[in-house]
Amino acid sequence: MISTRKKLNAQQYYSEFQRGLWDLINHLDNLETVPDPSIYRQLRYYSIVGPAALPPDQLDRYNRLINDMLSVYNSATICAYNEPFRCGLRLQPDLVTTMARSRNWDELQFVWTEWRRNTGQQIKDSFEQMVQISNEAAKLNNFSNTAEYWNFPFESSTLNEDLEDAWEEIKPLYELLHAYVRRRLRDYYGPDKISRQAPLPAHILGNMWAQSWVNIFDITQPYPGQNFLDVTPEMKKQGYTPLDIFRLAEDFFVSLNMTALPLDFWSGSVLQEPIDRVVLCQPSAWDFCNRRDYRIKMCTQTNMKDLITAHHELAHIHYFLHYKNLPKVFRDGANPAFHEAIGEAIGLSVGTPRHLQQLGLVQNSVEDTAVDINYLYAMALDKVVFLPFAYIMDKWRYDIFKRERLKDQYNCNWWRLSEEYMGIKPPVLRSEMDFDPGSKYHIPANIPYLR
Ligand SMILES: [Zn+2]
Repeated sequence: MISTRKKLNAQQYYSEFQRGLWDLINHLDNLETVPDPSIYRQLRYYSIVGPAALPPDQLDRYNRLINDMLSVYNSATICAYNEPFRCGLRLQPDLVTTMARSRNWDELQFVWTEWRRNTGQQIKDSFEQMVQISNEAAKLNNFSNTAEYWNFPFESSTLNEDLEDAWEEIKPLYELLHAYVRRRLRDYYGPDKISRQAPLPAHILGNMWAQSWVNIFDITQPYPGQNFLDVTPEMKKQGYTPLDIFRLAEDFFVSLNMTALPLDFWSGSVLQEPIDRVVLCQPSAWDFCNRRDYRIKMCTQTNMKDLITAHHELAHIHYFLHYKNLPKVFRDGANPAFHEAIGEAIGLSVGTPRHLQQLGLVQNSVEDTAVDINYLYAMALDKVVFLPFAYIMDKWRYDIFKRERLKDQYNCNWWRLSEEYMGIKPPVLRSEMDFDPGSKYHIPANIPYLR
């Protein structure tokens, strides 16, 4: 495909630039004696180029492996449950919707299993090869492995311990939430399906990866009938379009005294799914690094989740705009977690009942304990549940990068961590033929999750 070649060429061009810079800085004597701390830090950052430090043939192989894995992931489709001739169902929006809405145990199990068969299972070998090269690259950057390289921009020597401590603090709340959800699901699906003691089956939690359980809010909510949380029907009723959603989000930032978005943003962004080609629908915000071109790519749909995501993505754009005059290497979050933290903070304040009421998306008054508890419960299903998931994504990979664990333990280790931290188990028997972590985008993309 022409676009793949173009992409590879661009990647190669940038890598050559980085490699040239890396070479130059590595020939400087006494980098440590540079008196200006800002200049020293810039040089230090420029001296770490990641995979670009690889010799050209190895770099090419590294990029190809990732592109191959992503093309498996992005083009994967499955057939419908009990309808073997209705095929071509894609993750977005088909499977995501089924996982969110279906309450049919067998259908969910089918979709869960098929998605993994057509993604993770297909990329296991490429992943193993990629790990090797990724570690080679880390070594060329003076780290002992990729995990150490990924930790570098946090500029903390106690990062891993801090993460474990933070998790220990949250764990009691998570355990209560988990026990409550298990009880409610046991009522819903029956004691033969959900055991009083065992981990929760991963396929009935409303999400392909069980990383958020907010989609099973309706069958587990503490106060049924008090649910006002979803403003989707009201948005549809008022005829919100993707553009309206982004205009509304822009108003929110302007109300915080930030500038309106540059005109180029509106002409360059892709705010709804194009009808003439297949695109990767994962929402993303882009800084073209020329101080004027900033764009968002998102297949926006008229619902509450996308309303909040639109604000989240715009928070990235505003962060880009705020640091646009810094030296290039500093035009990034203060650490890799900071960009997402800002987006999440904005998202949390947009989703509050009071704000939604101000927007005219919630009609009735919301001063009520039952309503509050329902709201907080829904938040916990999304935010608290996500924490152990996010944590084990990189914990699992760090272990592989550090010890280059053999591929005969990949899947087993994934489920060991999932059970230990998330309290979930696979719905069907798994083996090392499967590669379940590979069915989540960031694994084939080799993008760190700790952010
Ligand atoms: Zn984000």
